[in-house]
Amino acid sequence: MKLPKKIKRYCPYCNTHTEQKVDIVSTGHKRGTLKRGSLTRAKKRHAMPGMGNKGKWGSKPAVKSWNRKTKTTTRKTIIYTCQKCKKSTQSKKSRRVSKILFEEKEK
Ligand SMILES: [Zn+2]
Repeated sequence: MKLPKKIKRYCPYCNTHTEQKVDIVSTGHKRGTLKRGSLTRAKKRHAMPGMGNKGKWGSKPAVKSWNRKTKTTTRKTIIYTCQKCKKSTQSKKSRRVSKILFEEKEK
């Protein structure tokens, strides 16, 4: 899917149409997810005192059997940033795309 880098769109803050920068909302990094059996979770419980792991935390089940991916596309939300007031609005609907390409508008 191709999108222009800049688009003229209504800005609810300026109450007019302004030039707005198009971008994808980044998924960011994982926060606050402490998985069962993870070392960081054990450390938080102070269950792992001292040095070394004593052969306790290394083994994990084989990932090969459940490492299958069915969906080739991901849901992406588009964010519009107003160039005038620097405020941004997200599109109400996200869409499934494999890749979003930004192209310069030629004039
Ligand atoms: Zn604005």
